[in-house]
Amino acid sequence: MINYKTSEEVQIIKESADILGRAHGEVAKHVKEGVKTSFLDKIAEEFIRDHQAVPSFKGYNGFPAALCISVNEVVVHGFPSDYELKDGDIISVDCGVFHQGFHSDSAYTYPIGEVSPAVIALLKATKDSLYLGIERAVVGNRIGDVGNAIQKFVEAKGYTVVRELVGHGVGKNLHEGPEVPNYGKRGSGPLLKSGMVIAIEPMVNLGTRNIVQERDGWTIRTADRKPSAHYEHTVAIMEDKTEVLTTHKYIEENFKF
Ligand code: MG
Ligand code: MG
Repeated sequence: MINYKTSEEVQIIKESADILGRAHGEVAKHVKEGVKTSFLDKIAEEFIRDHQAVPSFKGYNGFPAALCISVNEVVVHGFPSDYELKDGDIISVDCGVFHQGFHSDSAYTYPIGEVSPAVIALLKATKDSLYLGIERAVVGNRIGDVGNAIQKFVEAKGYTVVRELVGHGVGKNLHEGPEVPNYGKRGSGPLLKSGMVIAIEPMVNLGTRNIVQERDGWTIRTADRKPSAHYEHTVAIMEDKTEVLTTHKYIEENFKF
């Protein structure tokens, strides 16, 4: 089901997204070699709770943390742990904030130290594909136009798109309709209308698009254990414009990439 938001509701989601953006910025200050991923989770949770908000993911279907931390071949939904980041890793940090009744959701993948040029290119292409998808997320287009833009761009570079996991509507629920696949045909799927708030989140693999779930019931990794990248924004589709509600600004102020 798709819940269309009023402009007042979009404004609240924007406030939620601002806290989220700043939480990501705090995390970014600590993303480096030798840091335990559980420490990043602690930073995010404290920041969110200090700002009259709640981490959306913690307790969601039993998820144990404020952040999903997905290193290297982990696509999404990894747990923060005692693992210490090491030179050459990539790490996706996905976070959600619940504030005044509304969620926001965004993710960013960082390189740690010296990462191979092939993997840096994967990160850049995945991030660029997010913005290409956002450009297509306008009133009158369809969901398939968004996924098509992402898929065409990354597949032309030889990468693959994860199919089993998709973007989603965001609002009073962390995950609402419609599903927002990162692949698809132009002109297919639900029509984009004013008041839709969606998370667009390309998950792009260096090797096979196939994934497997670890026995913990959450962690999703690539079947061939090659790296995967993930970037996400929550956007509001309004009559006159599409607004990116979440921000990576505070990450990029604190992390050189
Ligand atoms: Mg997310
Ligand atoms: Mg999401």
